[in-house]
Amino acid sequence: MKNIAFLFLVLLAPIFSFGQLQSPDAYLGYTLGTKFTRHHQVVEYFRHVAASSDQVVLDPYGETYEGRLLQLAYVSSPQNIARLEELRLGHLKNTGLVEGTPNDDIAVVWLSFNVHGNESSSTEAAMKTIHSLITEHQDWLENTVVIIDPCINPDGRDRYVNWYKQNRSLPYDPNPMAREHNELWQSGRTNHYIFDLNRDWAWASQVESQQRIQKYNRWLPHVHVDFHEQGINEPYYFAPAAKPLHEIITPFQMEFQDWLAKNHARYFDKNGWFYFTKERFDLLYPSYGDTYPTYLGAIGMTYEQAGNGRAGLGIDNDEGIELTLIDRIAHHHTTALSTVETASNNKTALNTNFQKYFADSKRKYQSYILTGSAGKIPPNTLRIPQRHTANQGL
Ligand SMILES: [Zn+2]
Repeated sequence: MKNIAFLFLVLLAPIFSFGQLQSPDAYLGYTLGTKFTRHHQVVEYFRHVAASSDQVVLDPYGETYEGRLLQLAYVSSPQNIARLEELRLGHLKNTGLVEGTPNDDIAVVWLSFNVHGNESSSTEAAMKTIHSLITEHQDWLENTVVIIDPCINPDGRDRYVNWYKQNRSLPYDPNPMAREHNELWQSGRTNHYIFDLNRDWAWASQVESQQRIQKYNRWLPHVHVDFHEQGINEPYYFAPAAKPLHEIITPFQMEFQDWLAKNHARYFDKNGWFYFTKERFDLLYPSYGDTYPTYLGAIGMTYEQAGNGRAGLGIDNDEGIELTLIDRIAHHHTTALSTVETASNNKTALNTNFQKYFADSKRKYQSYILTGSAGKIPPNTLRIPQRHTANQGL
């Protein structure tokens, strides 16, 4: 009997002992939302996922000023992951940056989490999102490449998380007057040099932006989402954006914001979660994480969850309802998945209209020339895509 049991273990060992994918809860040892996860743990979880799945590859793209890793995860079907570079070039053929017949059957979605470091639920949601995509939504990944940046601003995030862990009560105190809800200067919103990275997409004055935008411009996704948090009393916000709209934004870009929003609303209505659209958050300033992609042909979306540096693990809002980190993660996780679902279901419309955006000869300006001191323009960043240019430095 003993021998049979041994044989059984030996035979099954390769299946169970190597590469077993774990959920964030199982890997981290706590339920997401009951603690904040430090950046290095997030990096380790993404490495674990990539080592356990043929649907994910990682792309470390740089470091912050304080030496923290910046990293993308590409998530798709195993077949798509095996020909990722071919898909990228096929996608760029829609823009005219690369010659040849373009892809029309693959959607490219880029999800950017935690640009403001103390808007802390979104990096937690990023871990839940990658796990859900590869375990529950393989069908969407058949025709969609999802690019996940789990944390755009790791220095700011760890500043907030460390501050919170040092200042919280045990158990946490939901009273808004408690010390753990009153972050001091310098808050975790900004990066090391106290720059707001959601004002830096076009100017790329900071190393985080410089390194990320080189990667972004190599992909030019169809859809880009910037995950944020706002005041603790606000319902969830997702685009359509507030008017007035810049003249360069096309009717299709606005229409697709509607399609996304209606899909999100379906899930929010089912769960009884409040939300609003259109009242705030414009698409005019070119250096936001929704507007910069919009001006490069994408559907640029901002999602805003209640929370921010005030909320901690739980806080009583003005209505006396406790807002928890667990709830905040659930909302961002839902819109992240709903975004991928909508893109996957509308891949052809995305490709056709993306192509039209770049082929529109009626547009008043096709490119811009900047004058001024060359030394003040960060290297390798200001590469404004032009049609019919060589396939270099995209
Ligand atoms: Zn924000």
